[in-house]
Amino acid sequence: MNKKVRVRFAPSPTGGLHIGGVRTVLFNYLFAKHFGGDFIVRIEDTDQTRFVEGAEDYIFETLAWCGLEPDESPRHGGPFAPYRQSERKTIYREYAEKLVKEGYAYYAFDTAEELDAKRKEIANFQYNQTSRTQLKNSLTLSDDEVKKLLDNNTKHVIRIKMPENIEVKFTDMIRGEVSFNSSQVDDKVLLKADGMPTYHLAVVVDDYLMQITHAFRGEEWLPSAPVHILLWQYLFGLENMPEWAHLPLILKPDGNGKLSKRDGDRLGFPVFAMDWVDPKTNEKTIGFKERGFLPEAFVNMLAMLGWNDGTEQEIFSLQELIEKFSMAHVHKAGAKFNYEKAKWYNGEWIKKLDVASYQLQVAGLLNANGIDADEKKLVQVIELVKDRCSLLTDFVQQSSFFFKSPETIDIAAIQPKWNEQKNLFFLELIREFELMQFWNHEALEEEFKELAAANKIKPGELMLPLRIMLVGGKFGPHVFNIAEVLGKDETIKRIKHVLKILS
Ligand code: GLU
Repeated sequence: MNKKVRVRFAPSPTGGLHIGGVRTVLFNYLFAKHFGGDFIVRIEDTDQTRFVEGAEDYIFETLAWCGLEPDESPRHGGPFAPYRQSERKTIYREYAEKLVKEGYAYYAFDTAEELDAKRKEIANFQYNQTSRTQLKNSLTLSDDEVKKLLDNNTKHVIRIKMPENIEVKFTDMIRGEVSFNSSQVDDKVLLKADGMPTYHLAVVVDDYLMQITHAFRGEEWLPSAPVHILLWQYLFGLENMPEWAHLPLILKPDGNGKLSKRDGDRLGFPVFAMDWVDPKTNEKTIGFKERGFLPEAFVNMLAMLGWNDGTEQEIFSLQELIEKFSMAHVHKAGAKFNYEKAKWYNGEWIKKLDVASYQLQVAGLLNANGIDADEKKLVQVIELVKDRCSLLTDFVQQSSFFFKSPETIDIAAIQPKWNEQKNLFFLELIREFELMQFWNHEALEEEFKELAAANKIKPGELMLPLRIMLVGGKFGPHVFNIAEVLGKDETIKRIKHVLKILS
């Protein structure tokens, strides 16, 4: 590549970031970094009616959590500032006027009421090649009338004049040649009555001014591409136009359509990167971060939704992704989201954490659950429990019994098979445990098994009751490891407690 690669993520700050958005960021980032290029974040906030308080902060917090830091952005600065489109308002009119002057666009004076009336009158009404000849615009009015309206500051928009029946073509990095018939596309507004550009004008002007070389965006933008290609042609010639890549959608788990926030609510998994609280309704949407995902796992999982390196490898660090990323391996088809698989990635990344980093990750979670963990014990517990958690948040459930007596005890799991013989065994076990000098799991297991043999009971039948006594339920690591960490007094205390309930 001769030119320095410059890519942009161009979000509209309207709410929490869907994983599809984060994957767009990731592919932008990987592509740019693979070629030693720059990753730019431009905030596309020209639609003031959709402005949402806090949404921009959320975007930058998400990028920081994922480790995908921009080189240029409204927060990071850069040579093409400002990077917020609302602060670039004055730039766009000049380009819109140029289009009008050259016959590629026109002033439209129809009021919102007039257009509404049209929509009521004609089903699927569109402002297009046919209808514009009967509407109030600079193509139908005389030059004098137009001048008068403009001089009187009459509210107006500027619309693109879509040419009739031509093929608009471009080569997409993922899809290859894509072609549209211009007659199928309506005359999109380019500059709104409030002087703000629409997305269509702003994206083209800014990609040009910011010298963007490659533009990655979601597939949902494909229908807008012909408008953008024509604007590129009219305003700048096609020479410096970025190469486009329309990324396939992330699909619902059953493959039927685009994964939505509602699917997550319905099926009980996150769809947003981090928790998002809607400032208007106070409704909270859970995020991957708070659900207990490590950013390394989140990024790894997203990269694999629509890409692979051509081998069976599934676990990649960000550095490795940068090295291996290639557009040749981005899939054309949508990628089905699979939450179990996402958790598998997380489990794999959790296994890689060393004890100190793990401690850092779970300390806050334990505190929030009222557990004051002794440092030495926490290290022992982490070693036992670490590989059993696919989410960091699982750690609390998997380990709280080490720090406090179980809140509930699954007596029903023992009771049906409980008998006097077993009761006597446990009473004897308490006495033996009390006498033990070396409290470690090997010695405990040996003692337990010898006593079972002497009582002619299969150790397997006693193991579950012991587990329930110590843990409260049918889970956790090896039961003698648990007893070792709990210590003699606590182990005996818990056995006695359950024997009492059973008697
Ligand atoms: N502002 C658009 C969005 O909100 C960006 C589309 C593009 O990258 O061109 O997704």
